[in-house]
Amino acid sequence: MSAPTAKSAMVTGAARGIGRAIALRLALDGFAVTVTDLPSAQDAADQVVHDIVQAGGTARCAVVDVAVLSDVEAAAAAHAEAYEGIDVMVANAGVAITAPLLETTPEQWRQTMEVNLAGVFHCYRAAARRMIDQGTGGRLIGAASVSSHRGGKWQGAYAASKFGVRGLTQSVAQELAPHGITANVYSPGVVHTPMWDSIDDAMTRRLGQPTGTAMQAMIEAIPLGRLETPTDVAGVVSFLASPDAAYITGQSIVVDGGMWFS
Ligand code: NAD
Repeated sequence: MSAPTAKSAMVTGAARGIGRAIALRLALDGFAVTVTDLPSAQDAADQVVHDIVQAGGTARCAVVDVAVLSDVEAAAAAHAEAYEGIDVMVANAGVAITAPLLETTPEQWRQTMEVNLAGVFHCYRAAARRMIDQGTGGRLIGAASVSSHRGGKWQGAYAASKFGVRGLTQSVAQELAPHGITANVYSPGVVHTPMWDSIDDAMTRRLGQPTGTAMQAMIEAIPLGRLETPTDVAGVVSFLASPDAAYITGQSIVVDGGMWFS
């Protein structure tokens, strides 16, 4: 049997999709969890907290726009106050722009970088500062993607942001290793969440095809023969947060049903 974790974790973008599954799983693993998301998602985030507490776990909610450093720092401080420190930061929040280069606006580019890349930077920075002060090590875990390994058509801004997340993570993994802090990313493939619904919508509208067909077409490219679920991703994050992953740092764990080999 592995040692009990009984520590705490903050998860961003946790009101729905992959972040929600991660928050539920880490709570099941024994972590006290702060469920964070945008103000517009607070009802859903409250429901995630409710579900965790109903299942016997420990959770609280916080409003965080990851693009705003002061939001992230305030949430990390409140988390550390509530749970006597912070052991795991899951920088999960992200947005997806699906557009050709010539139609990607500077505003879309900026927003993608601010949420997907600066957001992870803010989370790593706020958590690492506390983890170093605590002197107890910690885990920084970021959301990358198979698009952080291979760019794709209409994914310029998204892939650039996710390549950046991998570069940031490899760098801080080396810097923070002496403090016992590891940094890794999870790289999902095609997960059926509201994000992929919006990608499907953008793709099928461009191609003049029925809604849902772009997502269904992806199944043919997935050797395991089905779309990924948020729970598939949450299992990998659970592992990265566990004692069993103590000797893994700077890595991207691809969880995509066999589409891409890193
Ligand atoms: P989703 O759109 O279903 O959920 C994202 C959550 O992040 C939402 O609750 C949203 O409110 C929140 N969010 C958005 N902007 C935010 C901000 N500025 N600050 C705080 N929260 C914010 O997305 P998902 O599919 O669950 O994806 C989660 C992560 O996994 C993202 O980083 C995404 O890029 C990555 N990912 C997803 C897939 C996929 O197939 N769905 C594949 C690879 C990587």
